[in-house]
Amino acid sequence: MKKDTRILTGNKYTKTTETNSEISSSETKSNYYPKRIKPCVEESILPGVTEDSHYRKWKFSKRWEAAKILISEWKRLGYDKEKTKSMVLDWNRLNKPPLTPKQVEENLLPLVDWVFKREFEYGCKKKLLELRVCFIKERRCLYYEEYSRNKAKSLSIYPDEDFDKNGWPGYLRKNYEYGLLAEVIYREMRTFASDKGVPQDGIVFIGFEYLARRITIEYKDIFPTAMTVCRAMKVLEEVGLLRKVSKGCFGGKGLRRANGYQRIMPIPNPQPEAIDEDSTNLLQQVKGVKKEVLYT
Ligand SMILES: [Zn+2]
Repeated sequence: MKKDTRILTGNKYTKTTETNSEISSSETKSNYYPKRIKPCVEESILPGVTEDSHYRKWKFSKRWEAAKILISEWKRLGYDKEKTKSMVLDWNRLNKPPLTPKQVEENLLPLVDWVFKREFEYGCKKKLLELRVCFIKERRCLYYEEYSRNKAKSLSIYPDEDFDKNGWPGYLRKNYEYGLLAEVIYREMRTFASDKGVPQDGIVFIGFEYLARRITIEYKDIFPTAMTVCRAMKVLEEVGLLRKVSKGCFGGKGLRRANGYQRIMPIPNPQPEAIDEDSTNLLQQVKGVKKEVLYT
C-alpha cells in the first residue's frame, strides 16, 4: 500500500518517508475512529445531565465526568479549543442544574484547556461502559462496529480479493457437493470477523447454527442448516482455506461453545484437479452421496 504521510511544517507540507513509523502509526490509528459523535454520548450526555447530589465536589460530580467525555469527543471530531468552549457553555445550560458562572470560570473552562493538553480516548467497550454511558452490552452500537471494521481493514495485510482471483468460487462449486455453500460461508465469516475487528488470520468463534441463520438472512435463495454448514466447513478445511483451531464443547444446559476457525493466509491457490484414482476416491468421499437442496 502506498502511503502519503505528510506533516505540516510552517506553511508547506513535507512528505515524510516510510520509516517515520511514529507518525504513520498514530495517523493510521486515528483513522480507525469514525468521524461522528458516539451515539451513546449523543444520547446520554449531549442533551444535558442531571446531577444526583448538589453536595458533591466538582471532581466527583456527574457534570464533571460528562463534560470531560463530551469535550474529548468534540476534540476528537476536530473542533478547536475556542469552538469547544463556546459549545460547552451552551451545553451547560441544558444541565440540571447548570453550573454557576463562577463554576464555569473556575472549573468548566479550565477543563477544556486540560483536555486539549492531553491524549486520551473514551472507548465504548471500556471507559464509557464502566461509566454506564455506553449501551453496547444491551444493543448494537453502529459507531463501535464501524470502528472495528476500520481497524480490521487497516490491519489487513493480505489481499482478500485473492479468494475470487485465484478462482476459488468456481473450483468449490465444480468439485464439491457443498461447494456453493462453502463459498458463501467463507464470505460470511470474512464479514463477521471484520465486523468484530478480528485480523485476517485471527481466530473466529462461530457456531454452525449462527452461520446458517446469517446466511439465510443475507442470501435470499440459500437455506442452509447447521448440518449442511458443518459439511461445507469441512470442505473449506479440506481444501486448505480454513483451519479449525479450537473445538467447541458442550456446556451446561445444552449451551455449546462454538468452534474456533482461522482463515489460512495468504489465500492459497486451489490444488490442480485430481486425476489419479486415489484422489478421485477421496474427492467422492468428500462430495458425499446425499444431495441437499440449496435452492428453492
Ligand atoms: Zn458507546
